[in-house]
This record gives sequence, C-alpha cells and structure tokens, in this order.
Amino acid sequence: MQKDTLVFDLIRKELERQRQGIELIASENFTSLQVMQAMGTVPTNKYAEGYPGKRYYGGCEVVDEIETLAIERLKKIFNCSWANVQPHSGASTNAAVFLAVMKPGEKFMGLDLSMGGHLTHGSPANFSGKTYHAIHYGVTKDGIVDYEQLEAKARAEKPKMIICGASAYSRDWDYKRIRAVADEVGAVVFADIAHPAGLIATGLLNDPFEHCHIVSSTTHKTLRGPRGGIIMLRHDFENPWGIKDPKGNLRMMSSLLDLAVFPGSQGGPLEHVIAAKAIAFGEILTEDFKTYGKQIISNAQAMAKTFVNRGYNLISGGTDSHLMLIDLRNKKLTGKKAQETLDKALITVNRNSVPFDDKSPFITSGIRVGVPAVTTRGMKEEHMETVVGMIDKVLMNPDDPDVISSVSGHVKEFMQQFPLYPELG
Ligand SMILES: *Cc1c(COP(=O)(O)O)cnc(C)c1O
Repeated sequence: MQKDTLVFDLIRKELERQRQGIELIASENFTSLQVMQAMGTVPTNKYAEGYPGKRYYGGCEVVDEIETLAIERLKKIFNCSWANVQPHSGASTNAAVFLAVMKPGEKFMGLDLSMGGHLTHGSPANFSGKTYHAIHYGVTKDGIVDYEQLEAKARAEKPKMIICGASAYSRDWDYKRIRAVADEVGAVVFADIAHPAGLIATGLLNDPFEHCHIVSSTTHKTLRGPRGGIIMLRHDFENPWGIKDPKGNLRMMSSLLDLAVFPGSQGGPLEHVIAAKAIAFGEILTEDFKTYGKQIISNAQAMAKTFVNRGYNLISGGTDSHLMLIDLRNKKLTGKKAQETLDKALITVNRNSVPFDDKSPFITSGIRVGVPAVTTRGMKEEHMETVVGMIDKVLMNPDDPDVISSVSGHVKEFMQQFPLYPELG
C-alpha cells in the first residue's frame, strides 16, 4: 500500500506548529515519546469488550496483562482500591458516572459552566443537562467557589449527586466541606479532577479521595498521558443510596461503574491507548514527575505574579494550581480578540468566560492561561517573565501588524531552546 503522504505531511506540519509556538492552553500537554509511540501499536487491532479475565472475545490474554498493569499503576498513584481505565475521554468518564449513579430526571449539582464548570456538569447543551435535572452553584464576587450558596442549594434541592471540579477555576477545593453537606442531604460526592489530577497525584493539592465517593479524570491534561479518561474509588462501597444495576440488583459501586462504562456507554476499549496510559502512569510514579508537578506550581505562581504586576486582573487574584483566568475588561479587549491576536504571534491560549461575564460565550471577556505544556518543554520561573512580556506586548498592540510579526519572530527563536521530540528529526 502506498504511504498516505497527504495525511503524514499534515501530521508533520502539526509537529512543526507545536514546536515553534508557546502552548498555554491549560488543558494541553506534551506526552513522552514512548506514550505517543504506544498509541501507534497493534493492540489497536484487538476487540476486548469486557474486563481483564472477563472478556467477550478470545485472544485477550495479552491485552489483559496490559490493562491490568495500567489499573495497578493507577491504583498506586492515587492510593485507591479500584480503577477503570477504559473511558475514551473525560466526557465518557462523566457519562459513565451519571449512568451508574443517577436515573434520568434526577437532580444533581455542579459548578456553573459560565463560572468555570465543565459542559458535562449540567450544561443545557450537553447530555448531562438534557438527561438529568441540573442545579448550579457559582463563585463569589472574589472568584472563589461560593460554598455557602452550594450548601444552601444542596439543603433546599436535595440533589442525588454533587459534582466538584472545574475546567477554568484556579483555586483548590474544600472537599471536606462539600462532603459534610452531602452527608446531610444524602448525596453522592463526585470529584472530576480532569484538570489538576497531576498536581493531586504528586500531593501538591488537597486530596479529593479523602472525602469524595467517586473520582474521575482525563489522562491527557496535567497527568501528561494519552487522550483518555479514568474513574477511581479509594474505598469501594456497597452503596448506601440503594442505587441498583439495570436488573434491579444492589451492587458495589465499583461494579455499577464498570457496568456503566461497558456495556453502559462504551463498546470495545482502546487497548493501544490503555497501553499508553500504563506507560504514562509508570512515568507519574517516578521522582521526575514530582519535580515536574512542583515546577508547574512555581511557574504558575511566577506567571500570575508577572501578570498582576503588569496590571492584569486575575480572577480570585491568583492561582493555587497550573492555570489562571484573566479578566481583560480593564485592558479594553475581549477574549476572542485576545485569543486571535495571540494566535498570530504563535502564542496559543483559549478565550474563556469570566464569572459574571457580560459577553457571550463566543466572545467572552477573558482568557485562560496554563503552564503544564510549557513546563514540560523545560521552562522555569524566569521564562515566565519573558512569556508574559510577549503576551503583554501583543495585547497592548492588537492592531499593529509590525508588533505581532516581531513577537512571532521572537517566539520562534525563543522556543528553539526547548526542543520538542528531537528524536523525530
Ligand atoms: C477536560 C474536562 C473534561 C472532559 O474531557 P474530554 O476528554 O475533553 O472529554 C471533563 N471534565 C472537566 C472538569 C474537564 O476539565
């Protein structure tokens, strides 16, 4: 068969794009070469519906070993007793958790999308908001989760499940406080740690497993693995809420969740991706990854401080994690304009609504900026000042093509110090 150069040339072009730019999208990262290589291997050819030792297809003895290794390593990272590594993405993990815990029409609570929450936490455009009755809590004027509002709404509405976790929220969570009110009203606490999981894995943020019944994550954000999802329980439990499986049997939560992933919401698992997850989990268990986590926090702190010194308005005034949300209204810029202009200068961010935004989600008043990807490329605190200096220059001169082309030239030159996949030539 002839090599499809049309597609491989585009892949090469994407590699060059990733190499030359400054990647500040908070949900992105660069996997190791071996994680990437594992995704292009033969388990992609294998059907393995079911779980290790309980498959619906023959010939699964090797993929069983791969998947078991991934599960065992993941359990070690988060000190948990059960894990499912099959979800294809973060949205799939959440679909499975909903399916395991809730019946259509039942109530749950999550952080409002416009205040930093995720689509799968009850947006009317998403299955979560269409299938279930979503109630939202928000943040205070200071940009911190409004725990009082969360408690008041939980007491008034008695939701079956309370979701904590977010996509555009820079502060740590008070899981203990959420669990306390959940116990009062009999709700399941579900932590979606898709964003900060890598910092939780390294003990740099509060541990959700101490207080939350169910925890899910993506594997491609701060965990720096392949694109995918995971669901975990520190302590399995026979659920006190009387949640039953589709046949009406009471079951352990682990079993309800396994059933909700397969056959509930997915078919065959992506064993080549699970192989890549196993490799990424092995990497997370090393000292190098601990160092990486600490560097993410130091870089984010340095970046936040530099933005504040240059007069930028950070929601909540700063960050505890890998990302920050910047309100650009005092700079007379929309998020859309900022994103588009920075793109021209080879600096990638995403526009983002800020709490109490007066602009549409398509325009927005803010941008979200994160450091996991540039930290993987080797940047340290001092480089954060250079990066913020370049961003500021572009944002202060958004309609000046000379400034933009001078910054993009600087970006290309600057990024040569941080080689990406040099093995790929
Ligand atoms: C990114 C994210 C997801 C979804 O992950 P996908 O892999 O994009 O489906 C779910 N929840 C939160 C909080 C996220 O940030």
